[in-house]
Amino acid sequence: MQRDSQIFDLIQKEHQRQLHGIELIASENFVSDQVMEAMGSVLTNKYAEGLPSKRYYGGCEIVDQSEQLAIDRAKQLFGAEWVNVQPHSGAQANAAVMLAILNPGDKILGFDLSHGGHLTHGSLVNFSGKLYQPSFYGVEPETGEINWAKVREVAEREKPKLIICGASAYSRDWNYQALREAADAVGALLLADISHPAGLIATGLLNDPFEFCHIVTTTTHKTLRGPRGGMIMMRKDFENPYGLKTPKGELRMMSSLLDSGVFPGTQGGPLEHVIAAKAVAFHEALSPSYKEYTAQVQKNAQVLAKSFVDRGYKIISSGTDNHLMLIDLRSKDLTGKLAENTLIKADITINKNMVPFDDKSPFVTSGIRIGSAAVTTRGLKEQDMDRIVDYIDRVLMNHDNETILSETRKEINNWMQQFPLFSY
Ligand SMILES: *Cc1c(COP(=O)(O)O)cnc(C)c1O
Repeated sequence: MQRDSQIFDLIQKEHQRQLHGIELIASENFVSDQVMEAMGSVLTNKYAEGLPSKRYYGGCEIVDQSEQLAIDRAKQLFGAEWVNVQPHSGAQANAAVMLAILNPGDKILGFDLSHGGHLTHGSLVNFSGKLYQPSFYGVEPETGEINWAKVREVAEREKPKLIICGASAYSRDWNYQALREAADAVGALLLADISHPAGLIATGLLNDPFEFCHIVTTTTHKTLRGPRGGMIMMRKDFENPYGLKTPKGELRMMSSLLDSGVFPGTQGGPLEHVIAAKAVAFHEALSPSYKEYTAQVQKNAQVLAKSFVDRGYKIISSGTDNHLMLIDLRSKDLTGKLAENTLIKADITINKNMVPFDDKSPFVTSGIRIGSAAVTTRGLKEQDMDRIVDYIDRVLMNHDNETILSETRKEINNWMQQFPLFSY
């Protein structure tokens, strides 16, 4: 077969784009060569519906072992008793959990999308808001932080069957204990979606959601630095609270409900090549060097936040506990859209983002979201964060000066050559 140069030329261009720029999208990271090698392997050819040693297809002896390794390593990494590594993405993990434990029309309570929550936590344009009845909690206008007593008030008023915590753009840590007390007060289950800070949680840098949350979902490709994917975990399995029985008349365990939520509930065959890559990433995350990495991610985020504040930028909640921050550009008379479109001209990649109580549309926005996970993988340290903020400030303050923008881009491209990525 003739080589598909159209596609491989594009992949080469994307490779160069990633090498040349400063990557500050909070949900992105750079995986290792061996994670990519596993993803690009012959495992993609295998059908393996079911779970290790309980498959609906023959020839699964080898993928049984690679999937089991992924499960065992994830358990070790998070101190979990039960894990399903098959969700194709974070959204799929949440869909599987909700399908498993809710009926259409049931009430759910999540963190407001416009305050930093995720679409799958009840947004009306998402399955979670269409199939279930959502209500939301948010941050306080004065502090930019969640008031835990108020979340409990909303829970007591709405009486949801599921409370969801976790976010895509919230820079502070979570009080899982207060949320569990709210859940217990109304008989709800508590789900933590740790898609963003999973790596910092695995290495003990943030509060442990497993102690208080019944179920935990995550993506594997953000701070966890694995392939694009998702998973579902529980520290302890327990009997389902809905009275669902097995054919033998025993109460079904939650693990069995959640497994069915993934397959056959919301997915078909698992992506065994991606699951093998997850196993590789978890092995990497169990190493001492990953612990150093996440500590540096957190340090770098704190320096970024401080450098922005020092230059007169407003950070929502005034700082960060994790790897990301939301910047309200209204004090600089800029929009998120203008910032994103201008920064990309200097090869700095960020994303525009709504800020809490935003008066602009999601296509314009008043803010940008910035994260340190990818640049830290690249090897950048504290002093480099200050330099990044200098570049961002220079670009934003000169957004209509094409000469300064292109000179800054050249400077950045040269600088990034000092930080090689990928060994090929
Ligand atoms: C990124 C994210 C997801 C979705 O992950 P995908 O892999 O893009 O589907 C879900 N929840 C939260 C909180 C996220 O940040």
